[in-house]
Amino acid sequence: MLKPKGFTSKIIHTPFAKGDANRALHQPIYSNSAFDFESAEQMELAFQGRLPVHAYSRISNPTVENFELRIKQITGALNVTALSSGMAAISNAIFVLASSGSNIITSKHLFGNTYVFFESTIRELGIETRFCDLTNSEEVKANIDHNTVAVFVETITNPQLEVVDLAGLSRIAHENNVPLISDSTLTPPNVFAAREFGVDIDLISSTKCISGGATSIGGLIVDYGTFDWSKSKKLAPLAKRFGPFAFNYKLRREIFRNLGACMSPYAAYLQSLGLETLQLRFERAAMNCREIAQYLETLPQVQSVNYPGEEGSKFYEISKLQFGSFPGAMLTFDFSSREECFTFMNNLGMIRRATNVYDNKTLILHPASTIYCDFDPETRISLDVKEVTLRLSLGIEDIEDLKDDLFQALNKG
Ligand SMILES: *Cc1c(COP(=O)(O)O)cnc(C)c1O
Repeated sequence: MLKPKGFTSKIIHTPFAKGDANRALHQPIYSNSAFDFESAEQMELAFQGRLPVHAYSRISNPTVENFELRIKQITGALNVTALSSGMAAISNAIFVLASSGSNIITSKHLFGNTYVFFESTIRELGIETRFCDLTNSEEVKANIDHNTVAVFVETITNPQLEVVDLAGLSRIAHENNVPLISDSTLTPPNVFAAREFGVDIDLISSTKCISGGATSIGGLIVDYGTFDWSKSKKLAPLAKRFGPFAFNYKLRREIFRNLGACMSPYAAYLQSLGLETLQLRFERAAMNCREIAQYLETLPQVQSVNYPGEEGSKFYEISKLQFGSFPGAMLTFDFSSREECFTFMNNLGMIRRATNVYDNKTLILHPASTIYCDFDPETRISLDVKEVTLRLSLGIEDIEDLKDDLFQALNKG
């Protein structure tokens, strides 16, 4: 068989791990819990991890495995694990690396739940998070020490849309024997080759673009096998036995199993289908995003537009280097007051008022009063979440309909 080279061809033609008895063209949904064994000996080998078969669907499942194989094909990663959500991917990865007394370097520019996970959930377990300006290498260097177990960065932060020089950050992390972990949810693998920029572990909320239009919740841990785990205090003993597979061993044989946040076979099926059209949908949404950014700039009521693909953005160059011509399908823009934001949202006729990003539908929300409503005003300011900002996640609608809706919402009497 010809080996496909292109992104979408690779996804569509990823072979099943085992042939299907009925030659189905889609990996069927294996919606079962347990699998049968021919003999006690086979069962023993399977439990020792020495036989590539499935035993129990919390640990592995053929439909989920097929989704993981597809992600492996397009990323070239050594190991891929699909989980029940993006947050599960983040928490599982952190629990593999960190223990009481460890610290993690990241920024305050984070997805809301991730921020609380770092700031509160793991702090209560004795893991410290040092929030830095990740665009400032001196500050990062000053905060790393011998208890640092990860540098964690979002490729485009939400809602600030900050873009860090990842190769630079990776160099600092590696000089200090620390892996670089990214959350690349906003820059899926069709536009961002995480490994080329020095990312060791990439985390993705597949709920977003990969799911195919907000069909289901899911997450991915993409392990490139690039970090030398003998440099990790916690994983060094495993690195002696498993080399580049040490992280994956700890994850699959302990953390992932015991936290139990596995992806359901049904979600894996939907997300495998979503993956097939990822590139097509993303390009359309990203083109809509660029055009709407330009359109919003022409409207007098709009005070400012924030989008890293705009030449005026201070992140334009680094964003182009890392993500090419399509730096995401999300932008933010400011009015002069919170009231104007609310009126505008309420006047919209097609664009939906909803959380989530990278649906096929264009979605709008006011971050300060929703995702960040639990924070006091000072914290919101420290997170750079402003009262006058709206976040728009572009879908794949026809561009004229989007412009018409934005225009009528601004000019409704
Ligand atoms: C949505 C999102 C998450 C969390 O993903 P879930 O699938 O909702 O758990 C994490 N990071 C980013 C950047 C996100 O957009």
